Amino acid sequence: MTKYTGKTATSGIAIGKAYNFKISQNYVRRHHIDDTDAEILRLEEAIISVKNTLKETYIKASSETDKNNASIFEVYQLILDDADIKDSIIEIIVKRHVNAEFAVTVVYRKVVKKIKNSKDSYQLERIDDVKDVYKQIISSLNKNEVAKSELSSLANNITPGDSVIIFADELTPSEIINIDKSNVTGFVISKGSLNSHATIILKSMGFPVIIGVKYQDSMENKFCIVDADTGELIVGPDNDFISQYEKMQNKIELENKEFLKVINKETLTKDGKRIYLYANVVDDNDLSKINDYNADGVGLFRSEFLYLKNENYPSEDELFIAFKKAAETLRNKRLIIRTLDIGPDKIPEYFIKDKNINYEESMRGVEFCLNNIDLFKTELRAIIRASAYGNVAIMYPMVNTSGTFIQIKEIVNQVVSELNNENITIGSFIQGAMIETKEAVKNSDAISKEADFISIGSNDLSDDLFNPNHDRNNTSFFTKDNYSELLDNIKIIIDNGHKNNIKVEICGELASNINFTEQLLKMDIDGLSVVPLEVLRVREKILGI
Ligand code: PEP
Ligand code: MG
Repeated sequence: MTKYTGKTATSGIAIGKAYNFKISQNYVRRHHIDDTDAEILRLEEAIISVKNTLKETYIKASSETDKNNASIFEVYQLILDDADIKDSIIEIIVKRHVNAEFAVTVVYRKVVKKIKNSKDSYQLERIDDVKDVYKQIISSLNKNEVAKSELSSLANNITPGDSVIIFADELTPSEIINIDKSNVTGFVISKGSLNSHATIILKSMGFPVIIGVKYQDSMENKFCIVDADTGELIVGPDNDFISQYEKMQNKIELENKEFLKVINKETLTKDGKRIYLYANVVDDNDLSKINDYNADGVGLFRSEFLYLKNENYPSEDELFIAFKKAAETLRNKRLIIRTLDIGPDKIPEYFIKDKNINYEESMRGVEFCLNNIDLFKTELRAIIRASAYGNVAIMYPMVNTSGTFIQIKEIVNQVVSELNNENITIGSFIQGAMIETKEAVKNSDAISKEADFISIGSNDLSDDLFNPNHDRNNTSFFTKDNYSELLDNIKIIIDNGHKNNIKVEICGELASNINFTEQLLKMDIDGLSVVPLEVLRVREKILGI
């Protein structure tokens, strides 16, 4: 048993086998497929192409080696012709509406497991052949772009039913969204930080995460415990140790149940100040938690994830459906939709490939939208249409000056009149600015004169204040002194907002950290938007202040 100490990024305990994401850079991603017929056709073409290659290989092998050796390629063809296997793949594509690569991988894992469990020595000898054939199908589906090691690492490490801990050097938000997480219990990320988008998303999904520990070959396939509360990774624990941790997991579950006692309480301080307690969401799963935990609504809907999880631009209607669903699910609770917030760590590939997109790494938040007006207008139309179905607010990321806010409002007015001219029903909505840079803090009085509310992005604000490289994956710069400087800046923003009679909330990770709740309340913050799973813990804290 070996212990490694990293940094705690979220909370909780995970137990599972180590899986190195690095080996499988081209991890088979799961995609939703609408046109399953086209997908089956793609599968069939891939199989035919592999068969043709095998025929050529057989001919080549026969001339270069003896017939016995070459006959292996005939065996490969037999495996490819196995109708049961092909039918199972097709069934998965049709029933689960998934891409062929994913369906092939699922069936492949099952076949390999079945062979491993069989005592049939002939079959056991064939296991590598089966692996090879499937690698070739995947490779052909992916136009040979898949790393050769990928499937074998998947097959060796993840057998159905196994719990897995993913180790990665770095993870991007879109990778997290697209990884099949059904067997995954926790994450160990070597280059990460508390404020990195990857950590934020994993936290909102409830995964225990440790940062700062690097994967080593000796960990391969070993059982691991991720103790995200202490930042410890334990590799190869014995059974006693595992059962100790299982008991701790049960205790955490019981503690979480304890918080349920505040579920129906109004979020008031002891002297009666009503604090608005919202949650941050990235997808549909998070939405149901708002009602489950009786939060006041969504304080930050990170809409860029609707773009990141797609392989092409979502249409206005797709966006509208997502926003409408959110508004309706919240049953008139406040839904603050943040418009597309693009940054170097969260930009879809199809944006970069698109020659019509105006993008430079330095463009952040709403600046990107103002440089890509059509894209911006499409999203605004979708949000404004959804405002007819609930209590919708629009929030703009990284607003640095009041001039920018005025410019945005003009565009919004144009969109409203276009929708009115088209006789499309819209509701009422308010508009807020995210303050998350030093420049914005300086201009917070002027911005507050234009905006209906302010929300403080403490993640980017800390980054802008203390991190010269603006690399959110690195928080080694963050010290205790930094916290007090960050809080001083937050105080300036709150005072400027209140001077102009608007509410000031905070939606960065600081809002979820109960060590700062009291200070934020003393500074007169009006609302906190936190990770959904932290709503009850933060409410309990507020009730005691
Ligand atoms: C922030 O910067 O604090 C914030 C909430 O936005 P994001 O983390 O999505 O950049
Ligand atoms: Mg931000």
